[in-house]
Amino acid sequence: MLKEKVAVVTGASRGIGRAIALGMAENGANVAIIYAGNKAAAEETRETAMKFGVKAEIYCCDVSDFEATKELTKKIIEDFGHIDILVNNAGITKDALVLTMSEADFDAVINTNLKGVFNMIKNVYSPFMKQRHGKIINISSVSGLSGNAGQANYSAAKAGIVGLTKTVAKELAGRNVNVNAIAPGFIETDMTDKLSDKIKEGVKDVIPMKKMGKPEDIANMAVFLASDKANYITGEIIRVDGGIAM
Ligand code: NAP
Repeated sequence: MLKEKVAVVTGASRGIGRAIALGMAENGANVAIIYAGNKAAAEETRETAMKFGVKAEIYCCDVSDFEATKELTKKIIEDFGHIDILVNNAGITKDALVLTMSEADFDAVINTNLKGVFNMIKNVYSPFMKQRHGKIINISSVSGLSGNAGQANYSAAKAGIVGLTKTVAKELAGRNVNVNAIAPGFIETDMTDKLSDKIKEGVKDVIPMKKMGKPEDIANMAVFLASDKANYITGEIIRVDGGIAM
């Protein structure tokens, strides 16, 4: 579905981003794998992606640093020639009730999870306009749609992604650029592995499908949104959540 496309996936060393990068590679896309510090995991994603016969490179970059993302985008375009697909997946959590949440933890989550998405979009904005095609897929969360106690920073960032997605979708629609977001529910990754067994069991109880999702559940939707099959979809926020936020 994505033969010879170039996909950039942030946070692709682990979890959902890794599954998205591999889903893109499986469908024929060349992939730029962005990670924050975990080089060994990024290398593993690269080696697995290359088994699908595509080009894959890894890049260490903190998406919250605008100048660093500018250099990153320039380097990827030098290495791959152009970019067709941008997946903004990198994200962190620093959970606490507002009562105890520090200003630094609020800023850190907003800077990575929301400003990081703006940074990456800003860098592909002009190239996508000029080439008159492109797919941008942002990873939001059901926490951004419904709120979640203990996640004021995270929920605010993820809700911000909803507004950012719809705005950029409107700005770029006339240039044949599709901008959509996926709002995952609880997915089995390192991020949710940190939760206690008690919380995990409690979560499963309130999910209508009574189970957590797999990274591949999100990757399947990302591949679809990146493909020509989704050419008339833009500004959409798609829940992939076992029904938890319906
Ligand atoms: P994860 O397993 O913790 O992986 C996070 C990824 O983001 C890693 O590849 C990490 O790189 C990268 N990253 C973190 N900070 C970064 C930065 N400043 N710059 C560049 N890369 C950075 O997380 P996940 O569960 O797969 O989550 C992926 C996305 O889905 C996040 O946006 C998350 O909010 C969202 N989401 C997850 C769930 C869930 O249940 N898991 C639910 C809803 C939404 P390193 O490996 O180098 O550290």
